[in-house]
Amino acid sequence: AKEKGSNQYQIYNENMNQKLSEELMMERALYEALENQEFLLEYQPFIDMKTNKIVEAEALIRWSHPQKGIIPPGLFIPLAEKTGLIVSIGNWVLREACKQNKLWQTKEYKPIIMSVNISVLQFEREDFVNTVESILLETGLDPQYLALEITEGIAMKNVEENIDKLQSLKKIGVKISIDDFGTGFSSLNYFTRFPIDSLKIDRSFIQSIEHSQEARAIVSMIISMGRSLGIENIAEGIETEGQLNIIRKENCHKAQGYFFSKPTNPGAFQILLADDKEF
Ligand code: C2E
Ligand code: CA
Ligand code: CA
Ligand code: CA
Repeated sequence: AKEKGSNQYQIYNENMNQKLSEELMMERALYEALENQEFLLEYQPFIDMKTNKIVEAEALIRWSHPQKGIIPPGLFIPLAEKTGLIVSIGNWVLREACKQNKLWQTKEYKPIIMSVNISVLQFEREDFVNTVESILLETGLDPQYLALEITEGIAMKNVEENIDKLQSLKKIGVKISIDDFGTGFSSLNYFTRFPIDSLKIDRSFIQSIEHSQEARAIVSMIISMGRSLGIENIAEGIETEGQLNIIRKENCHKAQGYFFSKPTNPGAFQILLADDKEF
């Protein structure tokens, strides 16, 4: 039994080593991906519920791996966060998305807001506000056309510091959205103190909105809370006409989801803009 035990330990140890070295390899690959410009952005439109037209786009990162093909963010963002590489990757995303939006404005399409996902780690960097400011200067994008998507997590710790930071960002003129709203555990009280422009209602509520009265009640409550605080509402993950009809009835401001469009490459998105397509 003793022998077996020590064998088991060895196997366990080898597995751990293997997992560790896989992570190290992946970390290296991520670092090289940044150097070799293997990341790319896709854009998914948000539709205004009054005009049925595109008013905003979310930039979503993909890794175009030379051997493995397109890798979705869910498979590498967690490791990028764990290793801290998310800061450099996130800054690349911010710069690229601002550059793209500025380019579309130069081509004289109707201006839209570019929404960029910001990881907590990135937000917490002391130089984050400066970084945003210098990327806006560098790309020439008017700050009112940039929105930063952060998660409820920033309302959980370093509250005073984070409120200050958000206020500095508001002073620059960028917009602040809370992503995946309703999935965190933030106190409602915070939301009167955080300078927020919009709430993105998490897809999990939208998914069950047609069949669950509870989900509908939650969505309805978020929307009316947002409205009375002067905060805009965005429903994410709209996949069916039924879901769209409900969030229209609930008076939601904007919607995003496969029902309108999947995230697309810049060329395909530009065609949507050029058509000023009505959805
Ligand atoms: P998220 O910010 O909540 O983005 C929405 C995700 O839902 C995207 O997945 C989008 O493609 C997907 N989606 C949109 N509409 C629908 C729909 O109608 N149905 C379904 N089933 N899915 C829909 P994606 O692109 O795989 O991104 C996953 C997550 O990765 C994002 O979730 C975000 O948390 C993270 N992410 C993506 N890009 C970045 C980035 O540049 N920086 C950081 N920090 N995170 C990113
Ligand atoms: Ca998002
Ligand atoms: Ca989201
Ligand atoms: Ca999400």
